Amino acid sequence: MSTDVTPARAADIPSLDRLLNEADFAPSLTRYSRTQVTAALREALAALRRQAALGELHPQALVPLSIARTVDARLQQETRPRMRTVFNLTGTVLHTNLGRAPLPAAVQQSVLRVLSGPVNLEYDLRNGRRGDRDDMVEPSLRELTGAEAATVVNNNAAAVLLMLHALANRREVVVSRGELVEIGGAFRIPDVMRSAGSKLIEVGTTNRTHTSDYTDAINPRTALLMKVHTSNYAITGFTASVGIGELAAVGRAHGLPLAVDLGSGSLVDLAQWGLPKEPTVREAIAAGADLVAFSGDKLLGGPQAGLIVGRADLIERIKKNPLKRALRVGKLTLAALEAVLGLYRAPELLAEKLTILRLLTRSVPEIASQARRLLPAVQAALGEAFEVAAAPMTSQVGSGALPADRLPSFGLRVDQSHSRRPGLNRLEASLRELPRPIIGRIADRALWLDLRCLEVADEAEFTAQWSAFGR
Ligand SMILES: *Cc1c(COP(=O)(O)O)cnc(C)c1O
Repeated sequence: MSTDVTPARAADIPSLDRLLNEADFAPSLTRYSRTQVTAALREALAALRRQAALGELHPQALVPLSIARTVDARLQQETRPRMRTVFNLTGTVLHTNLGRAPLPAAVQQSVLRVLSGPVNLEYDLRNGRRGDRDDMVEPSLRELTGAEAATVVNNNAAAVLLMLHALANRREVVVSRGELVEIGGAFRIPDVMRSAGSKLIEVGTTNRTHTSDYTDAINPRTALLMKVHTSNYAITGFTASVGIGELAAVGRAHGLPLAVDLGSGSLVDLAQWGLPKEPTVREAIAAGADLVAFSGDKLLGGPQAGLIVGRADLIERIKKNPLKRALRVGKLTLAALEAVLGLYRAPELLAEKLTILRLLTRSVPEIASQARRLLPAVQAALGEAFEVAAAPMTSQVGSGALPADRLPSFGLRVDQSHSRRPGLNRLEASLRELPRPIIGRIADRALWLDLRCLEVADEAEFTAQWSAFGR
């Protein structure tokens, strides 16, 4: 404080009741409840008293308008949703930390419809009796996968846990050593087995497992053969594994079902759009898998969910398991899933309507021209301290899908003009503080903004972030 101002004293601070009656507080009182405004004001006044005690209270700070602004800013900050929409420019399309698959526009309407009223979630409208929530999606899943029956739980980790608990609790499950995967977020096949009360019998070696490895392990305690899609890594070189068809035959010969954890489990062959091949759920069922578990929010492009499809008698056992009740999904998930599965009925429109597929199939020239279009706004906001260039880069599918494959992409590469060290990290951090945060990736002493996941419809909002940034 400048020396020519006499600091205000605590006694000069207006009372809470007087302030609340000031016209300056009217806007806050229309936007927030009296309880909220009073609490925020109490904190603001306490801060003023602390300043007064230190002899640092500027008289200007006691003007009601000034206090009202502080209070309003505090309330805005406090009531802002903690879950925010962000721009995913990391280059990882299915980013688990950023919520995986963005839901298609058609799905938003379906979820909105069921939000605020009663729905026939578990009510059979034809007979007026209790129904089954799996009925919302079972017919679609049967049609899309060729399986006899289907059930839905919270995520694929839950699906695998439930499958094991229902079919192999206190019994043995045979799995190849080459398939004992760990998925991000602490999903490890051996740990899930233990949680389900199943005994894991590892067979074969890391790189090679043969049919005889499985048959040698089968004994009267065996309940299940299991195959896990090695979705986030690839073993190459001198390798051998037993395919679903062959393993299903081993199972049939010994009266044992074969369960497959397919991970991302696509419902359509991605190769038709020039994307790398990922095994589909239909192929796994056709090859002889008795049960297939997969995620709803990976390549399927829907909400977080775990789907199990397969033999009707086994699905029935799974549905009767008490864990199913604990792991079941709610109406929001089912409404979203039903709508996403509905999009698969029009396969020729899928690459346009299913957001995840639209993002994965964007062409490099299209993304490159977008990069060149957006470059001037970004360069203008960053000024001379940084140099922005439209540059080729590579995206990845993410979430363990198609791990070894990279998708050529394009984006903005931001370099520091002068090598002052903290510059790039500070820039990356301030982009995370924008009203709609921009999440990029720092590598090779540059900030990479991969534009694959920036849809043209979102460009205006993206540009608006940068003008906010420039100020
Ligand atoms: C992703 C994945 C899981 C876990 O699925 P969530 O839906 O994340 O619970 C399990 N197994 C495999 C093979 C996976 O790829």
